[in-house]
Amino acid sequence: MAFEGLTSRLQKAFRDLSGKGHVSKSDLRKTMRQIRLALLDADVNFDVVRKFVRQVQDKAVGANVLEGLNPSQQIVKIVDEELTKTMGTKAVPLNKAKTIPTVIMMVGLQGAGKTTTAGKLALRLKTAHKAHPLMIAADVYRPAAVDQLVQVGQQIKVPVFQMGTHHDPVDIVKAGLAQAHRDHNNYVIIDTAGRLQIDTKLMNELKRIKALAKPNEILLTVDAMTGQNAVKTAKGFNDALDITGVALTKLDGDTRGGAALSIRAVTHKPIKFVGEGEKLQDLDIFHPDRMASRILGMGDILTLIDKAKKGYDKKKAEKLTKKIQENTFDFNDFLAQLNKIQHMGPLKNIMKLIPGMANNPIMKKANMNPKQMDHIKAIVYSMTKQERAHPEILTPSRKRRIARGSGRPIQIVNRVIKQFNSMKKLMNQMSNGNFGGLGKMNKM
Ligand code: GDP
Repeated sequence: MAFEGLTSRLQKAFRDLSGKGHVSKSDLRKTMRQIRLALLDADVNFDVVRKFVRQVQDKAVGANVLEGLNPSQQIVKIVDEELTKTMGTKAVPLNKAKTIPTVIMMVGLQGAGKTTTAGKLALRLKTAHKAHPLMIAADVYRPAAVDQLVQVGQQIKVPVFQMGTHHDPVDIVKAGLAQAHRDHNNYVIIDTAGRLQIDTKLMNELKRIKALAKPNEILLTVDAMTGQNAVKTAKGFNDALDITGVALTKLDGDTRGGAALSIRAVTHKPIKFVGEGEKLQDLDIFHPDRMASRILGMGDILTLIDKAKKGYDKKKAEKLTKKIQENTFDFNDFLAQLNKIQHMGPLKNIMKLIPGMANNPIMKKANMNPKQMDHIKAIVYSMTKQERAHPEILTPSRKRRIARGSGRPIQIVNRVIKQFNSMKKLMNQMSNGNFGGLGKMNKM
């Protein structure tokens, strides 16, 4: 899980400091050392770490934190501000062309997630910006890259221009752009070839595509899990192509944080997006301030709200509230809510966005097996339409049938139905202004 080690080590440094009645200069030096080691262990670039620690130290001295109240809280605030600054201070939006189409050229090493990110970006543009993107398949080297993009396009209903793998990528891009002009696509996303390593041949090809397509955005995809290699890659691509932004993928994986914290400082180019899962919905705008809060284990409630908003439909929400108030919330509604939660991404990632959860022991204990949710869904899917709409008709023989259908033991079926009933009762009480039932929630 991203940043786990860094978060706990920074938190320990702050805890050690806050445990002291009086903070001395040597305490402060010790904290700085802890911060430096935590960052180095997180694979943050050496120069970035040195500069970071110096800035924090200077600010702490300048603000006279040792004289003021709560030195440790002040240090946390300074570290938070510096982390934010190191990652770029503000979210930087995609560049936009004055006249359509805006051309986005995706570049990156093989396996970094370039093709997937092209699809994620197309989906985001389509849903959040009501755009009509066209994707161009110009990776003619990686086996099946063209097919992969075509499949992604079909999945998200975005057209893909392709000419197979036997043409020069520059000719493919040229023909693709001509089609985009004809079809009035307002965005074009070009998926270019990658390599296992940066080489001159690849860079020359990308330069030729750049010269022809004159992209408004050259978005480099790098894999966060490769740590300092991601930073080196970013530097290499930036030196050759003068990229305009970075999409940092696989932040849902076991990343130490080095790439997220170093790329901006090393390349002076903003991280614009982060990929946090394999699904095409799993792309978020990179907000340096929110990322800093996450690194410090203070949660990221704003991203959580953004995620919830993605699937928010006012009419549906009103209908649901009405059903809860009238106590007619049924298994169909329950299923819709489960699907919505699953769409927000892996449950463990969502939980981490809640303040205080990142290093909470609950996270380690909690059994957040995504399979469990699938099991619950299988049980609900095994109910008939009538049973889902009228759970009160679920007799023991019906429950046995559902158990057989879903392949779950009868005890689990009973438990799910029981939990559903308590949840329904509780939601109804709460929606009618009676919060007395909250205590019962623990029993669920
Ligand atoms: P390309 O060679 O750069 O085009 O890479 P692909 O788009 O084919 O992605 C390589 C692998 O990384 C695929 O298995 C993707 O599903 C996976 N991937 C891409 N982005 C993410 C991400 O943000 N999180 C995770 N967990 N996997 C990702």
